[in-house]
Amino acid sequence: MHLSIRNTAFILLALALQNCTYSQTSNDQKKNTMDNTKKEPNPVYSHDDSSKVTLSNDQWQKILPKDVYAVARLKGTERPGSSSFEHSKEIGTYYCAVCGNPLFRSDTKFESGCGWPSFYEPISKGSIVYTPDHSYGMERTEVECGRCKSHLGHVFNDGPPPTGLRYCINGVVLDFEKAQDAAKKYDSTH
Ligand SMILES: [Zn+2]
Repeated sequence: MHLSIRNTAFILLALALQNCTYSQTSNDQKKNTMDNTKKEPNPVYSHDDSSKVTLSNDQWQKILPKDVYAVARLKGTERPGSSSFEHSKEIGTYYCAVCGNPLFRSDTKFESGCGWPSFYEPISKGSIVYTPDHSYGMERTEVECGRCKSHLGHVFNDGPPPTGLRYCINGVVLDFEKAQDAAKKYDSTH
């Protein structure tokens, strides 16, 4: 009896995960979001430098806020609906919050309703790397930053045209720069 209830619960959980509903953030992780003081400046963060970054997790832990570290380096998942980017309609560019690598343009963002910021196409082929993910008994494709190999989220085949892809990304590992901010910065440096 107990076994069948547990099996049913597992199947329901697996189905929920398949439908892009990740497990809830633990209470410990919620507490940790209170302690996000950066300990050391990030020496590799850049929107222009595309050279690969290979810091160890020990090094990243000294640099990144705890919530960013937990998702980016430990492959965690933020609580669904917790990112202000999920419903943002602002025009601009989304960068990797760990290394500054350009990842997605706002015009490829769409409302997936899955609880995380969703995009149908990365900025360039090299901005993302893909890894098979067999966790939770499912076959999924993990997406990582092409520059620093931080965990970003997963990509699914149920997105809108033209790609049919849904990049389901943790908002905590994204930095956003508005298009007009970028233009101002360009003007001031050229
Ligand atoms: Zn990165």
